Amino acid sequence: MEGTMAISPPRAWAEIDLDALRHNFRFAQAQSGGQEVMAVVKANAYGHGVREVIKALEPLQPSFYGVANVFEAREVRALLPEARIYLLGVANPSEYEELVAHDYTPCASSMAELHTFGELAARYQKTLRIHLAIDTGMGRGGFLPDTAELEEALAYQHSHLEIEGIGSHLPVADEDPTFTEQQFQRFASISKPDLRYRHLANSAGLLHYADYGLNLVRPGLMLYGVSPLPEYQAQLKPVMRLCSRISLIRDIPAGHGISYGRTFITQRDSRIATIGIGYADGYHRSLSGRGAQVSLRGVTAPVIGRVTMDQIMVDVTDVPECYAGDIVELFGTEISVSTLAQQAGTIPWELFTGIAPRVQRIVQTTDRA
Ligand SMILES: *Cc1c(COP(=O)(O)O)cnc(C)c1O
Repeated sequence: MEGTMAISPPRAWAEIDLDALRHNFRFAQAQSGGQEVMAVVKANAYGHGVREVIKALEPLQPSFYGVANVFEAREVRALLPEARIYLLGVANPSEYEELVAHDYTPCASSMAELHTFGELAARYQKTLRIHLAIDTGMGRGGFLPDTAELEEALAYQHSHLEIEGIGSHLPVADEDPTFTEQQFQRFASISKPDLRYRHLANSAGLLHYADYGLNLVRPGLMLYGVSPLPEYQAQLKPVMRLCSRISLIRDIPAGHGISYGRTFITQRDSRIATIGIGYADGYHRSLSGRGAQVSLRGVTAPVIGRVTMDQIMVDVTDVPECYAGDIVELFGTEISVSTLAQQAGTIPWELFTGIAPRVQRIVQTTDRA
């Protein structure tokens, strides 16, 4: 017997709910008061699989797709040749030429960049659409407000450049409303006639703050169903459900060590399940001994001992019934990714983007619209 029957399902997989993704996009749109939306799809759409994500969002017509580098820009272009693609961060000089040649939209932080982009665009006989980044407090790039250089940039004319937008970024929108309000005010006061796009808000910015007359928002995390501000979580639907299966269940006597370092010793006669996922899949090793739970058969059970590269152990002594082969949810609908990230000492953004390629993404959708 040769053939497909012998191919096993993956040990660990991520179910991707595209209906939830579309729900979240529509919520972002509504919550922003009908501003245009740049769908932030950098880092493989926060680990969700950029191809499926952009195909699912395309009918909802995001004004831009936000990426981190030209490699990601190429991926989006290959799928949606007509789509506008915006480079969210500072462009690397080694990427300038490709940016210009392929009409990706960068943001500039200095006059030197504008000059270089202008020269390149002239060489390629194009008009490059470019935005100005303004540093209202992020400290990662951009023109500083109230400087001569920003004034010069706002007034800059080049026959091969179209300065079509200005953007800035929020470092503490989920932590410091006073500072964030000031950023909105400061940014909104920067003016230039004929500016098509003015954008500042990430997920937390669009969820929680007035729009100050800006017209484009840049949600990332919330599209994937996680709110940086807990009070909006109920309105979003998780897109990724990270799953694995029980490989083995054993009865272990009291006093037996579990996993590397023997940091966990059974206090009672126990039933211990071994699950086929580990830190090489993106289930962080820092979750060891931090009270993380998994969900199986509708109940939760604790992860015990250290997370190993490919396997974790779960105490199922109190789970009434479970068997090898049972599906286990690591996070998604029952286990909150925000809680898990906190237990891991990190943030949901890092958990999502750390899900390894060997974790197969399995796409689910009912509504094909
Ligand atoms: C990643 C990124 C975003 C999206 O942020 P979220 O907090 O995930 O919504 C928005 N703007 C810029 C410049 C970014 O780099």
